[in-house]
Amino acid sequence: MLTGTVVNYYTHCKRQCWLFYHKLNLEDNSEDVRIGRVLHDLKRQDKEEVALDGIKLDKLTAEYVTEIKKSDADLSAALAQLEYYLIVLYEKGIARKGRLECLEKKKQSKSTHILTLTEEEIKKRKEQYRRIEEFLSADAPPVPVLKPICKKCAYYEYCFI
Ligand code: SF4
Repeated sequence: MLTGTVVNYYTHCKRQCWLFYHKLNLEDNSEDVRIGRVLHDLKRQDKEEVALDGIKLDKLTAEYVTEIKKSDADLSAALAQLEYYLIVLYEKGIARKGRLECLEKKKQSKSTHILTLTEEEIKKRKEQYRRIEEFLSADAPPVPVLKPICKKCAYYEYCFI
């Protein structure tokens, strides 16, 4: 079953997506991951997190689904995740706009991105989700290809050392 995180990873790195989906979880104590955990705990304290049918939303209001990220390092992956949430809700008859808030740790500021999807875009994304499911049913992940993002990835040693 797809989740927002799986869709995010598919956009970020297909190999990471496959490894994560197949439960090859490696403990990552990098600074980024620690910051992510702290943010997650803070969000839970806010008690605004909403969980339904396999998706966890940081915040749901009458107008927006809000997703909060610790950085805008991979904006397209974060937006793909938010699109997935919008579409899951849309399928349940809950039409909302997306709101992505990225905290920028060095600048101590926040950037906000508003997302809306047309019927045509929703159709295209649903086709893409079917392709992701097919990709995940493969017996092995794609071979690793070294990219700048790899140095910060929890799977770096697994992929390259
Ligand atoms: S180390 Fe690079 S290739 Fe390997 S899973 Fe991470 S991002 Fe993908």
